[in-house]
Amino acid sequence: MSVVGVLALQGDFEEHTAVFESLGAECKQIRLPEQMNDIDRLVIPGGESTTLSRLCSNYGFRDPIKTLASSGMPIWGTCAGMIMLADKITESDPIPLQIMDIEVQRNAFGRQIDSFEQIIPLQGIAEDFNCIFIRAPIVMETGPAVNIIAELDNGNPIAVQEGNLLATSFHPELSNDSRVHKYFLDL
Ligand code: GLN
Repeated sequence: MSVVGVLALQGDFEEHTAVFESLGAECKQIRLPEQMNDIDRLVIPGGESTTLSRLCSNYGFRDPIKTLASSGMPIWGTCAGMIMLADKITESDPIPLQIMDIEVQRNAFGRQIDSFEQIIPLQGIAEDFNCIFIRAPIVMETGPAVNIIAELDNGNPIAVQEGNLLATSFHPELSNDSRVHKYFLDL
């Protein structure tokens, strides 16, 4: 059975852990790079990407996560985690991990008060997923190998996959619906 590493530097790693455990998966909360030695997949949770980025640098996570990504390990970023996976973001701070061929805009819907929920079909995952957006990013550009799993009515992608890499703008760990977590376990 696979061990899911959940990056536990900041953000809603407890919520992700609870969903994976409810699916019977073994979870390991990761606070130091060497704890990633025996995991089979990794989640970068939502939170605050500027903080996450700084902690990733301070604790030496950048190169190890990049190495795992290029070795083919499934990695999933939600919200701030999506920002961290991006090759490029539309502002100069934070510096993302530059793992996935996407360009992302932070806080694309405005401030905290502009957080919202919307039922959106996720291709190959769910026809009717209640997506919870909290100061969420959107994807502005995708490279040729990136598959768009879901987009908003205006065409902005909010769930994308590039091989072993998955990124969602919203928070499936808060929806009381484990279908995206199940999908990630099957990657
Ligand atoms: N707005 C946050 C950021 O830019 C992300 C919010 C979230 O992860 N819910 O990092």
